[in-house]
Amino acid sequence: MTRKFEYYIKCKNCENISTTTGRTSCEFCNSNDVFKCPQSPDVAKNVAKAYLETANVLCQQTFPKLANNYMLNQDNVPTFQHASSPYYYIMPMVINYMFAIEMMFKSSLMWNAIEFELKHDLEYLFQLLTQSEKDKIIDRVIGNGPNASADFMTKLQKIKNTFVEWRYLPMEINGSEEIYIPFLVKLANSI
Ligand SMILES: [Zn+2]
Repeated sequence: MTRKFEYYIKCKNCENISTTTGRTSCEFCNSNDVFKCPQSPDVAKNVAKAYLETANVLCQQTFPKLANNYMLNQDNVPTFQHASSPYYYIMPMVINYMFAIEMMFKSSLMWNAIEFELKHDLEYLFQLLTQSEKDKIIDRVIGNGPNASADFMTKLQKIKNTFVEWRYLPMEINGSEEIYIPFLVKLANSI
């Protein structure tokens, strides 16, 4: 089955978004210098916010300390592995965070008229963000020390495919990646 996407176009000249589907030129200034978005960037951002808020509610229930203070004691919160029993209970939270992060990355790419493939891979999407956006996120999540960027990328690599690996977890037990919850929570709340 093929999924059909309705494309929106963002004008590179006047930066407006034409919401009439099927257009090839800007409906505001008629420029043909436009970028095709798989969906409206502001809709993507609102969807991301809704998933983030839901994830934070679930986090508040499961890890109230973590939810109340994303900045502290990151290393005191346990990591979870596929095979460990509590993972069933944190799956909805994890999936909501992962989807929120993915949609926020994609929304940012669309706003900046950066084309991307329709993948879930967070490392792939992050690498496409503007340098200033990447620096801002790394600074908020890790800080600005000499190893901040490398530290961030190592952690991002650990969760980059979590959405794909975890959403059907009960059917797909062969995954072995651990999930680093504090990083996930902080990243989602830092974009
Ligand atoms: Zn225009």
